[in-house]
Formats: sequence, C-alpha cells, structure tokens
Amino acid sequence: MSIKIENLSYVYSEGTPFEKKALDGVTLEIDNGEFVGLIGHTGSGKSTLIQHFNGLFKPSEGNVYVQGEDIHGEDVKLSDIRQKVGLVFQYPEHQLFEMTVYKDVSFGPVNMGLNASEVDSRVKEALHIVGLSEEVYEKSPFELSGGQKRRVAIAGVLAMKPDVLILDEPTAGLDPRGRDEILEEIKKLHDELGITVILVSHSMEDIGKYVDRIIVMDRGHIKYDDAPKKVFQHIESLEKMGLGVPQVTYLMRELTDKGYHVSPEVTTIKEAYDELMK
Ligand code: ADP
Repeated sequence: MSIKIENLSYVYSEGTPFEKKALDGVTLEIDNGEFVGLIGHTGSGKSTLIQHFNGLFKPSEGNVYVQGEDIHGEDVKLSDIRQKVGLVFQYPEHQLFEMTVYKDVSFGPVNMGLNASEVDSRVKEALHIVGLSEEVYEKSPFELSGGQKRRVAIAGVLAMKPDVLILDEPTAGLDPRGRDEILEEIKKLHDELGITVILVSHSMEDIGKYVDRIIVMDRGHIKYDDAPKKVFQHIESLEKMGLGVPQVTYLMRELTDKGYHVSPEVTTIKEAYDELMK
C-alpha cells in the first residue's frame, strides 16, 4: 500500500490554554494507484491529516507508514519521504519564485542532486504532463494565467517523481472553466501515470465526479470512507455537514460508473442527459 495511518491523533499547542485536538484516532489505508477524494467542512482536519502523510507533522499519537515504512522510524530520512509523497499546497502559485518556468520546475530535481540531463528530461516531461508546451519554458511564471501558474506548481512536484501526489484544494480561486480543466488534467495524470492521487476538497461537486473513493472527515474523525455512490447515500448527513451533493454530480457519477466519458463541459443536468443520449 502507499500510505497507512494507524490510530492517529494530533493536538495543536498541547499543554497550553490554546490546546486543540484536530485529529482523533484516524485509521486508514490508501493503496498504490488509488484516486481518492478527501472531503470535509473547513476545520474538519484535512490539512492537518495530509501534512502527516509526508512527515511535515509528527503524530501526537499513532503511526504513519509510507510504502510499508514507519516514517518516523530511526533510519528513515524525511527528505526521502517528501520526495515519495508530493504535496501541492493550496494556492501553490504563491510559492513560485524563479525567473523562468523551466527553472522553477527544475528546483526540486536539482536539489535532489540529479545530473543535468536527468533534470532536463524530468522538467520537460512534467510540464508536458500538465499540458504546458515549450513556449512557456523561458517565460516568467508571473506572466501566466492563474490556471497555468497552478499547472507549473503541480509540474514542480511531479518532477520529483512522487509515488503519491496530494493536492490541497487545487481548484481554489479558479473560475469554473479553470476549475474543470485542472480537475480533468489531474484525472488524466492519474489515469496515465498510475500514481496514487489524493484530492483534498470541501466541495462534493469538485471531487464527486472524478475520484474512485471518498473519505469524509468530520471534526477530526473519518465519518465515511467508501465508493462515491455509497457515500452519496448518506445525503442528509452530508448536507448537515455542509457537503451537499448537487444532482448533476449524481448523474455524472452514474454516467462515469457506466463507462461513459463525461466531458468537463457538462455542468447542467440537461447537458448530462444530452451526453447520455449521444
Ligand atoms: P481543514 O483542512 O479541514 O480546514 P485543519 O486541519 O486546518 O482543517 O484544522 C483542523 C482543526 O485544527 C480546526 O479546528 C482548526 O481550527 C485547528 N487548527 C488548525 N491549525 C491550527 C493551529 N496552527 N493552531 C491551533 N489550531 C489549529
């Protein structure tokens, strides 16, 4: 398996008046090649949880295993874990800082100590995967559109060739078109590269159409962990958590599960029916 979390609890500011238990007894396993959505209301513990996946946080209690290895074990280098588990933060474009797109994406591979030709091929491959052509190599990241900047940031993580890619709210702040494009791109890279992808979101609309498994977080616990169709059956409880499932998401899911490719252009029920009738 890619990631195994065993009875994980995490407390912020332990022993102070600001003490806050953000995660409480979380157990889960994510297999190699899965496409998982991690969803929950703001404050449910998603960010805290994913930062345990690559060792940025150390559990107050419990264990984290990556590819079978206890990441806080004695012989484990956390820098190796961070290469295996790539994390794309929210608004990752805020972390772009090099003069050119090419340099920005090469930052990780250069730091890994790879030779120049390996760096070059990784940078080109990563930019190609996220759908950016050679024309952008020498551009400043700041000249690009919001969606393109985000692609550069994702390429920067992909260039490290992670086994697991975690994306924290990759659609935040994008318009509907940019949002669908990025999600389609992420689905494609999961399908084509076969890497494990964990998509974090507070919107069922974003992830319900795409992922194969949904983990619902609620106040530091896992509330549901199942195939989208099964999770959608808890509609009332999801709505109470502010995680309503739009009808169009249901329908798209039905279509995808039946083997149809649903175009990202489909945003209304009528368009979904039309797609089905084609
Ligand atoms: P999410 O990503 O689902 O919005 P978080 O993991 O950010 O949730 O937060 C989980 C809980 O931990 C929330 O109650 C939040 O207020 C609290 N929390 C997050 N970061 C801190 C921090 N640095 N100090 C204290 N409490 C925090």
